[in-house]
Amino acid sequence: MSNPPILIIGAGISGLVLAQYLRRHNVEFKIFERDSAIDARSGGWGLTLHWSLPALRELLPEDIVERFPETFVNKEASARGDVGRFQFFNLKSGDALYNVPAAERIRVSRVRLRQLLTTGINVEWNKSFQNIESTADEITAHFEDGTNYTGRLLVACDGSRSRTREILYPEAQMNELPVQLLGASTLYSVEEMGGAESIDPFIFQGSHPDSNVFLFFSLLDTPNNFENSSKDRYHCQIIISWADSQGIPVPDSNADRIALMKKLTDNWSEPFHSLVHKLGQDVEVRSIRIEDWIFRLGRAHAHPRAVLMGDSAHTMTMFRGEGANNAIVDVLDLVKRVDIDKPGSFDTEALKSSLAAYENDVFTRAEPSYLNSRQACLDAHDFSKIEGSPLVAPRDLKKSG
Ligand SMILES: Cc1cc2nc3c(=O)[nH]c(=O)nc-3n(C[C@H](O)[C@H](O)[C@H](O)COP(=O)(O)OP(=O)(O)OC[C@H]3O[C@@H](n4cnc5c(N)ncnc54)[C@H](O)[C@@H]3O)c2cc1C
Repeated sequence: MSNPPILIIGAGISGLVLAQYLRRHNVEFKIFERDSAIDARSGGWGLTLHWSLPALRELLPEDIVERFPETFVNKEASARGDVGRFQFFNLKSGDALYNVPAAERIRVSRVRLRQLLTTGINVEWNKSFQNIESTADEITAHFEDGTNYTGRLLVACDGSRSRTREILYPEAQMNELPVQLLGASTLYSVEEMGGAESIDPFIFQGSHPDSNVFLFFSLLDTPNNFENSSKDRYHCQIIISWADSQGIPVPDSNADRIALMKKLTDNWSEPFHSLVHKLGQDVEVRSIRIEDWIFRLGRAHAHPRAVLMGDSAHTMTMFRGEGANNAIVDVLDLVKRVDIDKPGSFDTEALKSSLAAYENDVFTRAEPSYLNSRQACLDAHDFSKIEGSPLVAPRDLKKSG
């Protein structure tokens, strides 16, 4: 008799990595995604993968690992072994103050990584997860379209605004950080880049000592990187953020948002000033609220066969680039604790104890990342705190206990 499947909610980074692992081990699973397709949403961002790379290689089939270069934002730089310096600049003087060192890291496009990770995976698209029913032996996921599926474990990989989290922990409240952020992506010619491409092949950041306005600049694609890349332009993401204490609200209209980005950066040195001031009126500017949350160990909930993974378990600010790294290592921690090849692993008591051990591993590792990411976010908006801040400190894997 075949075992009921493992249900994965969300085809983001952790959901797809877990799906690939289960496919490789011939374990029955179903993966559900709210969106209609991988590229259903516009926007998108780059991910720096650093300390999760050994885990990622361990989890994924070899043919997928070999295809990592298909996801690189700058294939040429990565091919020559350039891991970038990830410099932090004083945006008044233009001086480079700090590097974020790394022995190993890759910078990937999130959408391209997800595309690669769907290879051989039958994602159930347009499946918006709504609710859970469970018994001691089974768990059933209900979807907005009225369908439902029963499995032996439900892994909630449904991201930072997780519906599963709301069900398991109805009292959970996200912590809103006192920061405002506007982000835009645009295509720039070599001339418009004004030399920014030679600062770093991937990302750089900085802040102005007088205004404490922060910049995060990232390349999402380089000219001729892939067949569908622009032939002569760089795809850039420009993020500007500032502390709430400045009392500068985010305007509603796109035109006013662009005008605000330009006003806040008027006193920046080159090429940082021009990178913002060359933004066209047609560029869409998004406002993102910065929030975080992490589960607490030992807090009971009503669904013993449901478990959180990735951002649903620990939403952290992006200021240290550790969310996806934690999400990937979560997958490895789960499959180390729940022996998926052993049917007995899914017996009620065995599963309960394995999931408790998994949660302990995740919490021990992710809590420092969560706290450091919060500190990095706060420090980014106070120039006097940058030195020694987790914003510019190396990213290390905290070994779980
Ligand atoms: C601008 C920015 C830059 C970042 N940079 C980095 C970085 O450099 N390095 C790093 O490690 N991290 C970075 N992060 C964080 C990283 O993107 C996340 O931590 C990571 O994507 C989390 O993976 P996940 O699998 O938990 O969730 P996600 O990858 O967010 O996937 C969640 C999936 O669940 C789906 N979903 C949601 N609700 C439902 C539902 N009800 N039913 C079905 N499906 C649902 C969503 O559509 C989505 O596909 C960055 C984040 C941002 C915003």
